[in-house]
Amino acid sequence: MRVGILALQGDVEEHVEATKRAMEKKEISGEIVKIKHSGVLKDCDALIIPGGESTTLSRLMIREGIFEEVKKFAEEGKPIMGVCAGLVLLAKRCENPQKNQKLLELMDITIRRNAFGRQRESFEAVLEIDGKPYNCVFIRAPAVVDVGKNVKVRGRFNDVIVAVEEENLIGLAFHPELTEDTRFHEELIQRART
Ligand code: GLN
Repeated sequence: MRVGILALQGDVEEHVEATKRAMEKKEISGEIVKIKHSGVLKDCDALIIPGGESTTLSRLMIREGIFEEVKKFAEEGKPIMGVCAGLVLLAKRCENPQKNQKLLELMDITIRRNAFGRQRESFEAVLEIDGKPYNCVFIRAPAVVDVGKNVKVRGRFNDVIVAVEEENLIGLAFHPELTEDTRFHEELIQRART
């Protein structure tokens, strides 16, 4: 089993470590592949789009020819987890896009970038995710302001949606790679196997 991690920008190493820990926990031997160029993703069984800066990420994905590959990967039903800027990129709509920002337009959601304001640039909160407590780390996080009917909401911060799922796609406004809790990485691996 191969888990691809988009490695153009952002917190890649943290996802590598979290994926390793999840594999150990699940006793699954797999390979972790950092994706920097085109032609690599097609041999992967799952993909993580890490946080970073969504405009930069989309620009680099287009430049490297990875953008269309990710769209194809998703359309084939392969599992993708988008975190923070990765969640922004998965969205079909963004309320406050940056100039020239291109989205993958895969998930039927509307995003608000940097939704928690300057005072709350980065913070932690224990939220109920899938009905269980999860320590969520937010860094200049986006929020999901609207969801289509096939989107499952998996977590909220107060009333704000911060975790969503639509078929093979998982989108998180917080960073599961920055805590010891590997539930989401485990889920992605599990999805890749079935
Ligand atoms: N605010 C960033 C963006 O919109 C995302 C921040 C992050 O990924 N930590 O691209």
